[in-house]
Amino acid sequence: MYKILKKWFYLYILKRKYYRIGSCNACGRCCQKIYVKHKKVIQTEEEFEQLKKMHQFYTYLTVVDKDETGLVFECKNLDKDTNKCKIHKKRPGICRRYPQEELFAMGGILAEHCGYKLVPIESFEEVFKRIQKKKNK
Ligand code: SF4
Ligand code: SF4
Repeated sequence: MYKILKKWFYLYILKRKYYRIGSCNACGRCCQKIYVKHKKVIQTEEEFEQLKKMHQFYTYLTVVDKDETGLVFECKNLDKDTNKCKIHKKRPGICRRYPQEELFAMGGILAEHCGYKLVPIESFEEVFKRIQKKKNK
């Protein structure tokens, strides 16, 4: 019963498609090789300068590379020796909530070896059946 209620709550109240399972192993990878998407993936330093005015989180980032996707950032608050966040207790909400399924909608993927997994709440068959049922109404 608990499982059914949980599923319903996640699907219809929280409007989620994935459960987040696992835990953080403090590898620090999500604080490195970061792409920033605001409407589109940030490509230039000028675009990024504008974005910095919008949220404090962006001021923590520094450009380390550029590839075919866009500018690549890493966070200045990551302690490279320990892989720990230097402002862990005051880290922004976006970091506290990582990873969220919106990551996929932004074209992102989980950092390699991340201790979390995002698993679909409904199986392919369940989604397919639900769509068929709607069509036949
Ligand atoms: S603020 Fe901390 S948790 Fe957030 S990206 Fe930077 S180092 Fe990582
Ligand atoms: S990539 Fe995953 S396991 Fe590694 S620090 Fe980020 S949330 Fe934690």
